[in-house]
Amino acid sequence: MMTVLRARVLTPRSADEVTWLEDAAIHIDPAGTITAVEPYGGQPVDEHLQTGVLTPGFVDAHVHYPQTRIVGAASGPLLDWLATSTFPEEARFSAPDHADEVARTFTAALAAAGTTLAMVYGPVFPAATEALFAAAERRGLRVIAGPVLMDEHCPPGLQLPAADALDALDALGARWHGRDDRLFVAAIPRFALCCSAGLMRGAADLARRHGWWVSTHLAESLEEGRITRERFAAEDYLRVYEDAGLVHRRSVFAHAIHLSDAEWDRIAAAGAVIAHCPDSNFFLGSGRFDAATALARGVPVALGTDVAAGRSFRVPRIASSAYDSALARGTILTPSQLWWWATRGGALALGQDRLGAVEPGMEADLVWHDLPAWVDDPIRALAWLVFDADAPRPRKVWVRGKIVWDRGPGGGYPWDTEDR
Ligand SMILES: [Zn+2]
Repeated sequence: MMTVLRARVLTPRSADEVTWLEDAAIHIDPAGTITAVEPYGGQPVDEHLQTGVLTPGFVDAHVHYPQTRIVGAASGPLLDWLATSTFPEEARFSAPDHADEVARTFTAALAAAGTTLAMVYGPVFPAATEALFAAAERRGLRVIAGPVLMDEHCPPGLQLPAADALDALDALGARWHGRDDRLFVAAIPRFALCCSAGLMRGAADLARRHGWWVSTHLAESLEEGRITRERFAAEDYLRVYEDAGLVHRRSVFAHAIHLSDAEWDRIAAAGAVIAHCPDSNFFLGSGRFDAATALARGVPVALGTDVAAGRSFRVPRIASSAYDSALARGTILTPSQLWWWATRGGALALGQDRLGAVEPGMEADLVWHDLPAWVDDPIRALAWLVFDADAPRPRKVWVRGKIVWDRGPGGGYPWDTEDR
């Protein structure tokens, strides 16, 4: 059966333009594909949503599920924060019950934020990432995920030898990659400082063999970059990943703040993607991403909350931070550019060409937001959705036409709700 929603619509058209429809009927087929978006003409509809605004789902290109409970751990900068707050918390995920419980909260938090697609870093324990896939499957979300790979220079309880880690990752891929065309496995060497060269090469080979994404952190803090170059005797940070075969069109690099011109050239030439995580960068004092250079060189950018160094699961909050971060370097980003990164641009960066817009042919990943009565044009709507930190959480969220989050009449903190 077709579903028809009646709503105001705000959807990206390009990095420079949005489409605003005052009163539209959105037709969704049983497979969850949008078949038509047309002016409302009095036809019967299944839901009347015109008190708010309907947008595409958000894309979070970088988030850590085992850090769900340490949001706000103010123990930075990066290497101190990892040692003090992050590694002890991630060690708890060797316990299956803990992993399962946090995976449920995490997927609820993503859905409640209006995030319909996320690239997720799991803990080092493969079974804990299995728990994440199971929770995302039940919730109905799209995730690209993997356990972080770490085999040296971190607490012994968080190291997994390369051969064991890659075998387990291969097995995880066999069970989950491509399930329901919604769940995908990625190879995620955490960052060069926790990985042997052999582990990174093995991860790159496995990903290439299976057509998976790879993701890692790159040039987040100056100290991390300096130690990496020394340890690997590399001319620059990116070279370490290039030598491992990790730099290509299906690579997502989180942060990429401290890059030389030569590294920017090589990232652009490789077609690699950057996950820009400005709130995390502010919280850990890591530095400010060079958005102007990324745009000038045509490097695909998506936004990452980077919870828990990032302090919100809400991608629009991160878009607001991206504005501040760029402005502090003298670059003015437009609201439509930020909206593009948060939705369609982010989806395209992650290779998802049927996501990120409310248009015929797209999958119906949708978010219904409250909108004050005085917000009656796209400029005010973008201001409200992107920049107003007091705007409430989304009211309802769909993936492929199925409801994955319904805030209901309450305040809608995801951790208060009964999980499915
Ligand atoms: Zn991260």
